[in-house]
Amino acid sequence: MSSPSRQRPLRILIAFGPTEEPLDPVRYLTNRSTGTMGRRLAEAARARGHRVQTVECPKDARTALRLQSVLEKAWPRTDVLFMAAAVCDVRPERTAEGKLRKTRVQNIRFVKNPDILAGLGRRKKDRQVLIGFAIESASPIESGFRKLRSKNLELIVVQKVTINQDPFGEQRVNVWLLDGGGGVQPEKAITKIRLAALLVREAERLHAEKN
Ligand code: C5P
Repeated sequence: MSSPSRQRPLRILIAFGPTEEPLDPVRYLTNRSTGTMGRRLAEAARARGHRVQTVECPKDARTALRLQSVLEKAWPRTDVLFMAAAVCDVRPERTAEGKLRKTRVQNIRFVKNPDILAGLGRRKKDRQVLIGFAIESASPIESGFRKLRSKNLELIVVQKVTINQDPFGEQRVNVWLLDGGGGVQPEKAITKIRLAALLVREAERLHAEKN
């Protein structure tokens, strides 16, 4: 376990797990995500003496819109946000009150969900640090840098997913840490426990640089 940080405790907000978009009382749309990374980050940040608030999806915030409102409320009192939630990109135009007939399911119209992280990035104060996560199949580094810039992040953790390479759950992962200075730090076969400890120290460094 890592030793406590010598700098002042940071207010660290961690969002993780999959959001859900109910189509009707029975069916919903979601993403694959176990929430492991977020749980490991919370443990690592607490071990370093930081003040940690977690928002676990879908338990604490089921839908993307609910998660957006919870995070926007907590954001002004946050020094560092780790945004590890797997947010559904779309939601049904409306949730049916009763169970839909099978023939109606294929006609559901979807609307785009807001990009929560990009919205927080636009309102970020100079003292605040935003760390995002991305799972990519093609051009992971190029796509990662594009997201880092468009969402105004200090750091993005990029993982690759293919049919044969699956980053979900407790196993070791291959990641790249991309930063605003154009830096690429590859980490090969790292456990999520070690990755979480590394990311908390990165967050401390990025916050110290800005404050
Ligand atoms: O889905 P995407 O690859 O753009 O996700 C990159 C980052 O943006 C992740 O940290 C994710 O939690 C966040 N995100 C978000 N709102 C969305 C989609 C993604 O905050 N609607």
